[in-house]
Amino acid sequence: MVQIVVVGGGPAGMMAAGQAAKTGAKVVLLERNSRLGKKLAITGKGRGNITNAADIEDMIRQYPGNRSFLYGPLYRFTNEDLRRFFRDLGVATVIERGGRVFPESQRAQDIVAALEKFLINHNVKIKKESRVTALLMNGSSVQGVKCNGEIVPADAVIIATGGVSYPATGSTGDGYTLAKQAGHTIVTPQPALVPLETKERWVRDVTGVALKNVRAKLYVNEQLVAEEFGEMLFTHYGISGPIILTISRQAVMALSQGKQVQVKLNLKPALTAEQLDARLLRDFNKNIRKQFKNSLNDLLPQRLIGTMIKLSQIPPETPVNQITKEQRQAMLKALTELTLHIKSVRPLSEAIVTAGGVAVTEIQPTTMASKLVTGLYFAGEIIDIDGNTGGYNLQAAFSTGFVAGISAAKQE
Ligand SMILES: Cc1cc2nc3c(=O)[nH]c(=O)nc-3n(C[C@H](O)[C@H](O)[C@H](O)COP(=O)(O)OP(=O)(O)OC[C@H]3O[C@@H](n4cnc5c(N)ncnc54)[C@H](O)[C@@H]3O)c2cc1C
Repeated sequence: MVQIVVVGGGPAGMMAAGQAAKTGAKVVLLERNSRLGKKLAITGKGRGNITNAADIEDMIRQYPGNRSFLYGPLYRFTNEDLRRFFRDLGVATVIERGGRVFPESQRAQDIVAALEKFLINHNVKIKKESRVTALLMNGSSVQGVKCNGEIVPADAVIIATGGVSYPATGSTGDGYTLAKQAGHTIVTPQPALVPLETKERWVRDVTGVALKNVRAKLYVNEQLVAEEFGEMLFTHYGISGPIILTISRQAVMALSQGKQVQVKLNLKPALTAEQLDARLLRDFNKNIRKQFKNSLNDLLPQRLIGTMIKLSQIPPETPVNQITKEQRQAMLKALTELTLHIKSVRPLSEAIVTAGGVAVTEIQPTTMASKLVTGLYFAGEIIDIDGNTGGYNLQAAFSTGFVAGISAAKQE
């Protein structure tokens, strides 16, 4: 019987371990934490956006990081397969806005529990508080790992230790050290899906304000390079939320090249300039006896009003009936071209995903096997792949885990 060691009990490692055992291997799963799936349990704000219902071709476009490498795994274990897999384990899923798939219970922890059940069903030996520090090699073959100072022999080792973001969840980059030991190239880890820090300090005044239907445009050296529509959030340092995370990739790249980065927000993208002007006029007419500062309650969330008034530079006490056309235009501009100058991105530790990792050119895309070392496999975020928000990163972890587990068990 093939003996397999899986390093890391995140989504990729759990899927790999269970599939390898189901295929007939004897599997030990080593996880450094005292529980499995610590990061998985906090995904999707604790609701677990495990995949996306998009068809596979559309899905593949959502991986800016090495999408062609993912063709094989995503076709071999699709989003539909993943939903069926969890349904069979008793976890029904639902599709929400933007095709995002969540467990019906809205609890990511139920996904973790289902995976644990899958491991137990197939007799995977789960060893928690077990940190792997080295690979055991014999020439160009792997022979096992060193864990908590002891030797664990194996015919195959699957490294599924994740990236380096959110290190408190256990992903601290150990896998990169193991991969380097085996001679693999590590493409420099970079933050992907990361909040942006702005030069404008007024964002502090609106910390925590979340907006639903916003259009964000990212400009690099005044050229439009990315555009997203959806939800965003103001934070004490700048901006975050799904659409900001999605456009952050280009910001990371541009800032590292010393380029100028700006985000322009349109807070009312559903309206044309004329429609918005008419809307403002309507609101002003309704509040004709009030001061400007008391006329925007229907237009904006309460907490944003003070800041938008400051940005429009219209004195807040101005009687509404004295607001000039030019002032209205200034307000329109503030609403539709709210400009933020990006000074930096938040550190890698705060990124949702790590771009970079084990070079895809050194991994067989059909098996996840190392091209350099016999018996060594990779799965999940440790590989130099990354996707957009919307469930794509977990799907990639599950699909690569699925392929790695079966291939390692068959010694492909
Ligand atoms: C806040 C947050 C929210 C997210 N939300 C979503 C979402 O809704 N949808 C989505 O698709 N993606 C989401 N992601 C991204 C997604 O969670 C990751 O891409 C995914 O967890 C990667 O899976 P993985 O198994 O490769 O790595 P991880 O989940 O990082 O698991 C790696 C495991 O390996 C263990 N490990 C590390 N080193 C060792 C060692 N030396 N020995 C033993 N064990 C070790 C770690 O403790 C960890 O348990 C989110 C990420 C964050 C941070």
